[in-house]
Amino acid sequence: MNNVIKSVYDSVIARDPDQPEFHQAVEEVLDSLGPALEDNPSHIDVVKGMVEPERVIQFRVPWYDDDGQLHVNRGFRVQFNSAIGPYKGGLRFHPSVNLSILKFLGFEQVFKNSLTGLPMGGGKGGSDFDPKGRSDAEVKRFCQSFMSELWRHIGADLDVPAGDIGVGGREIGFLFGMYRKLANEFTGVLTGKGLPYGGSLIRPEATGYGLVYFAREMLATKGKSFDGATVAISGSGNVAQFACEKVLDLGGRPVTMSDSSGYIFDAKGIDREKLSWIMDLKNNRRGRIKEYAENFDGVEFTESKPEPNLNQLWRTQGDGALPGATQNEINGNEAKMLVDGGVIAVAEGANMPCTPEAVEVFQKNGILFAPGKASNAGGVATSGLEMSQNSLRMSWTREEVDQKLEAIMVNIHKNAFETAERYGMPGDYVAGANIAGFLKVAESTMAQGIL
Ligand code: NDP
Repeated sequence: MNNVIKSVYDSVIARDPDQPEFHQAVEEVLDSLGPALEDNPSHIDVVKGMVEPERVIQFRVPWYDDDGQLHVNRGFRVQFNSAIGPYKGGLRFHPSVNLSILKFLGFEQVFKNSLTGLPMGGGKGGSDFDPKGRSDAEVKRFCQSFMSELWRHIGADLDVPAGDIGVGGREIGFLFGMYRKLANEFTGVLTGKGLPYGGSLIRPEATGYGLVYFAREMLATKGKSFDGATVAISGSGNVAQFACEKVLDLGGRPVTMSDSSGYIFDAKGIDREKLSWIMDLKNNRRGRIKEYAENFDGVEFTESKPEPNLNQLWRTQGDGALPGATQNEINGNEAKMLVDGGVIAVAEGANMPCTPEAVEVFQKNGILFAPGKASNAGGVATSGLEMSQNSLRMSWTREEVDQKLEAIMVNIHKNAFETAERYGMPGDYVAGANIAGFLKVAESTMAQGIL
């Protein structure tokens, strides 16, 4: 980091010293922008602005549980950057949600959305509400209360939220219904909607499918493929499930999945039948991954232990790793376990699942590594396609959306790969994605007079 960039980073820490996840995301980006700023010294002013969200909204969310008890959660929307389009990014409902996490996610989203090639700015939001163990009626009351404030800050041409951890089709439905009632209009203000009311085919699959399309392109640069490859996947939610499905489509063998209570290892491989069992467990019965080991023979379940224990999932020997649960789930030591297990490529399905130490281990050992802002961009890209379909008042077929998604992922890979080469860092997808995502936003910001 040169001195000017370092001073920007120092000011970010000084301004919000209690936001470690945000610092981590900013540091990772600033670390790789040096060569781009040498070419375009005036862009440093853009960087100074980009580390500060355009707007942050925080509000209270009161709701009653089924026993008539009042709960008061905190709601947020971070509208980070709208230089290239309306703010766009998911809503996360999880007890760990705070401003640091949402600012890290919103900041990442700016670069990710830019990389998709679609006109979308970056934002993120959510609440510290925990939907786990809550009845449908409780989730509905919470969503309605959350939207009763959020609705005045969003709009189809202003800010278009979507799902993230803890916010799936059920929650988007409740949120959309409340928005429609309050705003008295039917527009594509949220993505990830149900098909009958404006959702896009392939949106549920998009992040997982896109991740595997991206990883396929990475492997191809080394003459490898998913055919016959053993793959470790973490998480068992939206991203993990559809990554697993696409790995199977391409002839690979996924062997692990996890949730916050632990992970399963299935040496025989998670086949289509077992995957649909997991989808039913997680999406309909809302059960725990441990039940997989109780239901299928020869499967090991390992309970997760609190830090500083290593997550043994990453001891899995295989060709590919697709972390798809949450941030900072692979540290430096866990990355070493993957390297020892012979991993060839690691592509982030979750946002920032690898710590900076882990990324360093991969890069030093010549492992192909893709940051989430490039490899998991398929979800938001397909949200962009949902917005287009809503504006056109029409819907495309499954094949049409899937082809567009695949083309976008191939293009993001090409853009990140070639940008890294152009700036003298061949194979460095982190630098390639950061610089490519940055340049488009920077040029737009300069042209508009840095507001
Ligand atoms: P889901 O809520 O569908 O699934 C999340 C999965 O991760 C669950 O298996 C959950 O287990 C596990 N998990 C969550 N928090 C933790 C934790 N602290 N420790 C261990 N496991 C945890 O979310 P998604 O699949 O949608 O999202 C997963 C990741 O992908 C997130 O980082 C998200 O930001 C990112 N992402 C998602 C996109 C999308 O389109 N959905 C788009 C781009 C990125 P449990 O059920 O026990 O909590």
